[in-house]
Amino acid sequence: MFNDVNDLSDCTILLVEDSPINQKVIQCCLEDICEIVTFASAEEAIEYCLQTPPDIILMDWILDGMSGVQACQLLQKEPTTANIPIIFVTSNTSEHQQEECWDAGGVDFIGKPIVARTLVNRVRTHLKYKKQADVLREYSYVDGLTGVYNRRYFEQELERFMRQSQRTTSSLSLIILDVDFFKKYNDYYGHLEGDDVLKSVAQTLQKNTRRPLDCAFRYGGEEFAVLLPNTPVDSAVKIAENIIQDIHALAIEHTESPMQVVTASAGVADNHSTNETDTLINLADKALYAAKHSGRNQVKQL
Ligand SMILES: [Mg+2]
Repeated sequence: MFNDVNDLSDCTILLVEDSPINQKVIQCCLEDICEIVTFASAEEAIEYCLQTPPDIILMDWILDGMSGVQACQLLQKEPTTANIPIIFVTSNTSEHQQEECWDAGGVDFIGKPIVARTLVNRVRTHLKYKKQADVLREYSYVDGLTGVYNRRYFEQELERFMRQSQRTTSSLSLIILDVDFFKKYNDYYGHLEGDDVLKSVAQTLQKNTRRPLDCAFRYGGEEFAVLLPNTPVDSAVKIAENIIQDIHALAIEHTESPMQVVTASAGVADNHSTNETDTLINLADKALYAAKHSGRNQVKQL
């Protein structure tokens, strides 16, 4: 699973350095490893990071405007950037300054003037660790059977998006989807066939959640969840309806269901009436129950 860790060519280094000469020197040393994106100010670098998180940051200590340490502290506070290792580049390597570097949350520091081999080796080493950590995180968040994210990741992401939508006063919608008569399907066709149904449903969810922040999860058993940030409930209902139609259109035989094919029901809710993640889940669950109660193979909203 770590086979590709030595190939760092798909990584991105973000360099924050206000001296054009130092920019050139560092770029020359690292250009063979991977892509380097350079900014002269911490403010610009942070804005970029939040949109496009790099794999590692090389941060100049002294910058015009926000200092390297301040930038580091800010980035550590943001969930999207908290895991990015930051290496300080500094001409002052006094004991006091080293302490400051560790206190700020830096993973390492490199002294100026730059020693090319030290820079290259430090960056390579930290990029490798970062890649390994990413692979492990990815594995522990993905449902082994269906390939969509698991419930642990769902809970973490729901919490994160809920906070974000409060901060930006935007809508967050949740779809909870359940395969209809799935127990009957398993009893009749067997668990292996049942697993194939769950994989097909998961693929249909992924096909319908293509916007960058949309995310599909296996919530448990034959239950799935879809998180839709910046999406009011009406738009979420449309997405849910497409999913339900697409699952029906798979035309997977299910003679034990009145529909004769595999179908699913979905409940949709958004956060306009609540800031609590548990309440949002309950609302979507209630809507799902209503969809089941009205004959399944449909979407209901609360
Ligand atoms: Mg400087």
